[in-house]
Amino acid sequence: MKQEKRAERNQDAYGLLKPCLERASALQTALILFEWDNETLAPREAGKYTAKVQGALSEAYQEIMTGKNIEKLLEQCRQETGLSEAERAIIREAQEEYDRLVCIPPKEYRDYQELVAESARVWAEAKEQQDFHAFAPTLKRIISYQKKFAGYRAKDGQRLYDVMLDDFEKGFTIKKLDEFFGLLKQELVPFLKKVTQSQVEIRDDFLTGDYPEEKQRELAEFLAEYVGFDFKRGVLSESAHPFTTNLHNHDVRLTTHYKKRVDSSVFSVIHEAGHGIYELGVADELTQTLAGQGASMGMHESQSRFFENMIGRNEAFWEPVYEKLQELFPEELGKISREIFVKAVNKVQPGLIRTEADELTYSLHVLVRYELEKMLIEESLDVEELPKLWADKYEEYLGVRPKNPAEGVLQDIHWAQGSFGYFPSYALGSAFAAQMLQFMKKSMDFEELLRKGELEVIRQVLRRHIHRFGKIRDSRQLLRDMTGEDFEPRYYVEYLKEKYGSLYQVR
Ligand code: ZN
Repeated sequence: MKQEKRAERNQDAYGLLKPCLERASALQTALILFEWDNETLAPREAGKYTAKVQGALSEAYQEIMTGKNIEKLLEQCRQETGLSEAERAIIREAQEEYDRLVCIPPKEYRDYQELVAESARVWAEAKEQQDFHAFAPTLKRIISYQKKFAGYRAKDGQRLYDVMLDDFEKGFTIKKLDEFFGLLKQELVPFLKKVTQSQVEIRDDFLTGDYPEEKQRELAEFLAEYVGFDFKRGVLSESAHPFTTNLHNHDVRLTTHYKKRVDSSVFSVIHEAGHGIYELGVADELTQTLAGQGASMGMHESQSRFFENMIGRNEAFWEPVYEKLQELFPEELGKISREIFVKAVNKVQPGLIRTEADELTYSLHVLVRYELEKMLIEESLDVEELPKLWADKYEEYLGVRPKNPAEGVLQDIHWAQGSFGYFPSYALGSAFAAQMLQFMKKSMDFEELLRKGELEVIRQVLRRHIHRFGKIRDSRQLLRDMTGEDFEPRYYVEYLKEKYGSLYQVR
């Protein structure tokens, strides 16, 4: 009976599409593994040679994904009935990937790929020389390609920046993001001024010191495991910038870095573990398919930030754990109480660099980038005007002004890689996380669970409502299904104001 059903299934369109997608997915997995290797273990001179292999693999991937065969099968799949929710999601993702790859003329796409490969080098050099003009012509060309490609894909009068935003976060258009960032600007900019003028002094000098790397590594492994990262299905390595890579739900790889500031690796590793736990929680039936990863960039960032901030920067979290830190670093932390430590890791310091920002100022860094991207794509802002506008906005929102473009407009690699529409996800993630926290607090004593070290209860809720679904549902749908409400940014503002209002005694 079971056998018969499967035989029948092999004849239908989805049954034929599946092995094609499996081949494409195998190539994709190989590409991801090379990326991971490049960032961690590969010798420096391997780059040029590996690039050849990567080129061949990605060409083979494109050939499969844009082939006549796939086009026909996708068409037939759309007529097919009786598919599961997961199968429909896989077909939808395949269709989107097909549309994305097929609408750009191959020659233009190749030229663009070359430009982007070159631009990372131009950007790095310009940043090192603190010379924006050295990068401006390349950036101009990238933007013009990006607008052209978005134009090919725009449906019925869709705005170009909306096309780009949709790649990272479905359902978050310019209109929706204007509301979100408008609220952040209106509420958080004046609130931050009060915080920086507060009389409350928070010392954090002890966080910087001679923290031995070996001990930091031991702590990082301990913390990743403590928050729930499964080392039977994952590894922790080192790289210049911490990141997470997933091959499938039984192979998830984190990296961190070890610096003079001990909290840098502590919170990097909890953050990346949050990304990792998300991927490990994707349902088995989805893994190694196009729907077998986190729902979106923003949803991913919500999980990493939930672990980093809502869990990791919570005083209750450190109750069972802080002694371990004191044992590892008796000279640095032996005389520092838990209360002082937790205050230090929550200190607000408006700065110039996004990746070093505290929890309160983080989304304001993103606000600057959102406003500028929108002007570049929708209002034809001249690239040459970027450094000044960037500096003005930093001064207005954060009260600091970059002295050179390296600590200003040149700090992130995203635009050099052609990633426009990516930045908003960083801020959305924090806001999703706050909405989830607000929902959880209605049904559980969140702090008490942290105090008792019962993180599994919290993880289960996230797995049940978010992780297992992979890409089946988009971020707004997941939020609605979990919390009973559409995306509601007010929870994020309330969360920040309550937390930092109490820490700095302002309202
Ligand atoms: Zn992240």
